[in-house]
Amino acid sequence: MLLYVHVPFCVSKCRYCAFASEVMDMDALEAWGKALAKEAAHYGKLLGNPTVETVYLGGGTPSLLPAWAFERLAQTLKRHFNIAPGAEFTIEANPESCVEKDLIGLWRSAGVNRVSLGVQSLQDDVLAALGRPHTAMHVHAAVERLRAAGVPNLSLDLMWGLPGQRLKGWLDTLKAAARLAPEHISAYGLTLEPGTLLAAEAEAGRLAQPGEDEASKMYVNGGDYLEEMGYMHYEISNFGRMGFFSRHNQGYWEGRAYLGLGPSAVSTIGGRRWENPRTVAAYLQAAAKSAWGSGAETLTPEVRGREMLMLALRTSRGMRLSDYKRLTGRDLAASEGKLLGALNQKGLIRIRDGSLRLTRPGMLVSNLIIGRFLFPD
Ligand code: SF4
Repeated sequence: MLLYVHVPFCVSKCRYCAFASEVMDMDALEAWGKALAKEAAHYGKLLGNPTVETVYLGGGTPSLLPAWAFERLAQTLKRHFNIAPGAEFTIEANPESCVEKDLIGLWRSAGVNRVSLGVQSLQDDVLAALGRPHTAMHVHAAVERLRAAGVPNLSLDLMWGLPGQRLKGWLDTLKAAARLAPEHISAYGLTLEPGTLLAAEAEAGRLAQPGEDEASKMYVNGGDYLEEMGYMHYEISNFGRMGFFSRHNQGYWEGRAYLGLGPSAVSTIGGRRWENPRTVAAYLQAAAKSAWGSGAETLTPEVRGREMLMLALRTSRGMRLSDYKRLTGRDLAASEGKLLGALNQKGLIRIRDGSLRLTRPGMLVSNLIIGRFLFPD
């Protein structure tokens, strides 16, 4: 099983952020920790102290947790779950909060062996436009500290298609990131989520974003560069050195069972899925009533088939057509032969050894392609 813990606190709200995160407040932090311990105890008991192969502390900004809160959280997880020897244990961290040597040492002694660092860009003007509280200098200092603490697996999160970013600036960011020698790089295209400050600016016509053509080049040329540097493109937005692909995220894409703790966290276990309340206040209310897993839905073969298509096609391994047929009874090669042929001719997909996969240009328009399979004319 995979275990995810949502830490919903940040220093401030970034201008593009639609994640469940709130500005850190000590009372809320204390209350969240207690509620989380209660939730962990509930599921630890219900699932019989399950073995977890990956632990992922996401957010929000988990690196913002003070030492006492991190220590309590680590003890809670160890008490209620059997963390497998050799488990991948990731913490999401922001550069400006990777300052204290002792705190990073605490992560390491609790078993953290992978840090996913929210870099986004190495251009200070672009970072400022995003409302990020760090600069490129913070990133360099953070990487140095993490490596000095012996972090063996470092992932850098980067973003392309940003306001004020040009193709050259993006490729320069990738080059500077590669010089930091991380084991893994995630490269996400900016999406303007409704309700964010950037989306409002775009609506008001005040956002200078790269055009479609330039943004496409960012994705394709950026991917080519990372592959030249030895990072394998194993998922739409993820690149890793051999042996360093994210085990946790791969588990999601392979449809494995996962338990999510904390506000907004989603769980899928035994063909059922549920989602925790999104805000800290609503999560605390649920915890007070021990209302765990309410509103769970049963996943039908149809829903699971749809998800298999959406998740497996994100990966370079692709989707085995026989697995899809077994689950849904639908023979995609037969029913969508014409569409598959056209996409293949355009260089957007490949079918090899019974697996359907998207090429890099295909990944760029993955939503359109997946939509065509899900909702054929
Ligand atoms: S650090 Fe991440 S979670 Fe926090 S506000 Fe910024 S984008 Fe959102």
